[in-house]
Amino acid sequence: MRELERKPSSDTHVRTLRTVAELRAALAGPRRAGRTIGLVPTMGAFHEGHLSLMRHARADCDETVVSLFVNPTQFDQEADLGAYPRDEARDAALAAQAGVDLLFAPPLAEVYPPGFATTVSVAGLTETLEGSHRGHAHFDGVATVVTKLLNMVMPDVAYFGHKDAQQALVIERLVRDLDLPVRIEVCPTVREPDGLAMSSRNARLSASERGRATALARALRAAQEAVAAGARDPALARAAALAELRCAQIEPEYLAFVSPDTLTPVRALDGDVLAVVAARVGDTRLIDNHLLKDGSA
Ligand code: AMP
Repeated sequence: MRELERKPSSDTHVRTLRTVAELRAALAGPRRAGRTIGLVPTMGAFHEGHLSLMRHARADCDETVVSLFVNPTQFDQEADLGAYPRDEARDAALAAQAGVDLLFAPPLAEVYPPGFATTVSVAGLTETLEGSHRGHAHFDGVATVVTKLLNMVMPDVAYFGHKDAQQALVIERLVRDLDLPVRIEVCPTVREPDGLAMSSRNARLSASERGRATALARALRAAQEAVAAGARDPALARAAALAELRCAQIEPEYLAFVSPDTLTPVRALDGDVLAVVAARVGDTRLIDNHLLKDGSA
């Protein structure tokens, strides 16, 4: 098997694979040659957040694999799954430009063949925040598909975004618990110039919703400013953040100050605290978070 060549980043074509057998065959040579493999799992509709993960992988690893699979089992609402943006040709071109070596875009039946009956379920961390608002099936879907992708690709390193901080914690937990031989790298959230965290779902916002959506980042900033001004009571920071959301007529599903390791609510804003927020803006559900470090951001 010929070793994969490093592509120049001006490339407009990325090799796209559909089956696990093709993927394993393509990676066998590089693996035998001792080349390191980085995996970026995605659901497509690439934006700068995804591309930053790909660049991290490319900088650290000899081969970069991006998976593109809109995983139905992690959607709690049929309409959300149906409306999820899909444009594989655009994504493939962006992946090629980012220097990705392989795009793994399997059809549904390759991931969930008839008779599929196994679920990976992480307890504890999944029972709060996104887990309690979207239902336990959400993180079961994430944990199961990520375990499968890690087994399919067998990467040395897998890259996830801090934008989905709870998801990253759940994946770190399952990798430790199941002794999966992979290092998990969590990369910083990439934001629009006005602060809105990039998300594939942002494309669904109308112009006025897009304006209101910036309140999530402003709310987190207000919480951070309250802490920097000396607030130690989470209720004070929460009030400052809520005021920003309400200015934009946004009622959060949750707005909480939690331990960045366990996601349990903190009693005081001392040490590392993760501020997390989820809210619907129109029909679009958005999440964001910000790490308040040592009482100042
Ligand atoms: P998704 O395609 O939404 O499942 O996201 C694929 C990966 O990209 C996940 O690890 C996300 O956490 C990450 N990601 C999504 N948005 C951002 C962002 N704005 N900045 C950094 N990473 C992100």
